[in-house]
This record gives sequence, structure tokens and C-alpha cells, in this order.
Amino acid sequence: VNVRLVPLALPRGQKLHCELCLGPATLRCGGCGVTYYCDVEHQNADWVSVHEKICQLLIPLRTALPFYNSEKERKHGQEQKICREKFLAEVTRTAAQNFLFEGKHEDAIPAALHSLKFSISVYGSNSVELVPAYLILAEASLGLGHLAQGEEYLSQAHWIVLKSSYCSSAVQSNLHRNLGLLHAAKGNFEDALYHLANDVYFASCAYGTNDVAVSGGHFHMANIFVHQNVLDVANSLYSEVSGTTSTNYNSQHPRIRSPMHLQDLRLGPLHPHLVSFADEKQRAEATQMLNAILDFRERSPRPQPAKLAKVLHALAMLHYLTQDMSKASWQGWPLCPDQQALGHFQDIVLFPAVPRG
Ligand SMILES: [Zn+2]
Ligand SMILES: [Zn+2]
Repeated sequence: VNVRLVPLALPRGQKLHCELCLGPATLRCGGCGVTYYCDVEHQNADWVSVHEKICQLLIPLRTALPFYNSEKERKHGQEQKICREKFLAEVTRTAAQNFLFEGKHEDAIPAALHSLKFSISVYGSNSVELVPAYLILAEASLGLGHLAQGEEYLSQAHWIVLKSSYCSSAVQSNLHRNLGLLHAAKGNFEDALYHLANDVYFASCAYGTNDVAVSGGHFHMANIFVHQNVLDVANSLYSEVSGTTSTNYNSQHPRIRSPMHLQDLRLGPLHPHLVSFADEKQRAEATQMLNAILDFRERSPRPQPAKLAKVLHALAMLHYLTQDMSKASWQGWPLCPDQQALGHFQDIVLFPAVPRG
């Protein structure tokens, strides 16, 4: 951390709180001079997560408001404050979401907590605008294995959604996905299946039935059926997933849409870099799902070559899109399932460096 830390010498009676834990502060950030910490560890965690990005932005927000000469001036000052807080809620939420994409659950938490705090300040503590921040906190907590903490965030989010008159399908899908994974982690498979079915339903409403976001729900449901040894159901759900994934990637271009998580957060216009990054993440998820299904298919006591071929085909398309030619050409080659697949493999082999379309 390249920002000087200033030890605090507080006037009598004045109490300042740590930015992260709200404990008594002993240090101040030397960059902005308006942010306080209990110790170096919390200062460091906050810096890495998000403070580096917002250090200077906090100065106007936290320096005392000047004296206003008129009601008009006061109103203007108030509006400006809300505007800044809205912006900070978004910046911090984007930072948190990006850490989740990278699997850095620990780093996502301080940023998501700030986003929650700014959102509460702007929208109040019961607004549906808070749900995305709660969901990031829940997902990060579950990712770290902190089930109780994750459950608490999820019940906050669930409660707000139940009380609110409108909540987008994208957000509901994300909520139910997390609830499903929580129940699965706790071994409550009935509840897990209920929430994952809801995830599939809302994801279909939000993105259409053939979307990769929908296969995520199917995939997690299938995993539960495998766990319960209900293999025929798992089998057909896995077929659903590999079917959807290959339909999506069969088109000339990978479909360009902002993926579920980003749409969820209503980030507004996305930076192009963010879109491509998130798209890679989505491909990584699809590859992970397909590899798990491939494993399931290969271990099956009753081999089903057509289904195996479909998974291999979908995987080959993904490797092709990620320009991993060596894998693309060997995976699917042995069992060309149909003419369309054959066409794809010819493209891969004959024109390896030229993107289609
Ligand atoms: Zn602290
Ligand atoms: Zn600072």
C-alpha cells in the first residue's frame, strides 16, 4: 500500500470508527484524510478491495458541508450528495462483482459492504436496490465456506424481494440460484431443488429458455440428482445443459449479451473491456459444466455414444471459440455426431486462425 497512514491524535470526546469493522479507529488514510481504520490489516484489506479506486472520491462526500445561504443552495447540496453516493454505490458494486468473477471472494467483501452502505444511504434499508449487494455478499460468503453468514445475507435479500412489489427476473434468478446452492451445501436437497427450479424459471423469463444462464440451474439440479443416485433424471438434465451450450456456441458468433451477473446489477452502459471479460468467465463456466457432464457420461455403465458425442461437440466449439485449437480438433473428432458438427470440425481444421462470420 503506497498511501501514508497517519496515526490519530483525536481531540477529547471525539470518536471515529474503522471503515471496515466499525471498531474504534487508530489510523487515518493519508490519501484522502477522511477514512479511518482500527489497524493496518483492515486498512490493507479495504485498500486492495476498493479504497484505492474511491479514496479521492470520498473527500467531497465526507468533508463537512459548507454553510448554505439559502434553501435553494441547501437543496442543491443535498442532491449532489445523493448523486455522488449513487455513483459510489455502483463503482464499489462493480469492483466487488469483478472480484467474484475472478473467484477472489475475500477481496469482494469490503467493496460489497461499501456498496451496501452507499445504497442504504440513497435508497433506504428496505429497497430492492440493495438486493444485488446482498447477493454479492452472500455469494462471496458461500464461496469462503461461511454458510451462516451467507445465509444471513440471503435471507435479507429474500425478505426485501418478498416485500417489494417489483423485482426483475434476473435478480430473482440470481437470488434463487444462491439459495439453491446454500441448501445444497447444507444437505437440504429438497429445498435446493425447489430454489434451483425457481432459478431456471426466472432465468428463462429474463434471458429466454435457450440461454446459458438457464443451463446453470439445470446443471446444479443434475448434480443433486447424481448425489441422490437418481441417474436417469440427472442424465436428461445434463443432456439439456450440453444441448443448450452447443446451441449457443453453434451460432456463427458467440452471442453478445451482457451476462447474467452484470445485467443483474443494472450497471447501465458497460465498459467494452468488462463485457469481454465477463464473456470469458461465462465460457469458463460452460467449460466447467461440460467437463463435469463428460465425466458423468464416460463413467456411465450404459454408454450412450450420441449423448457423449453431443458433449464432446459442445466442448470442441468452446475450445474453438477460445482459440484453443489443439483441444478443439481432437475433442469431437472421434465421434462426429452430425453434418453440422462435421462442418464445424472442418472449419476448425481448415481455417484454424480465421474467426467465423
Ligand atoms: Zn477494523
Ligand atoms: Zn483514502
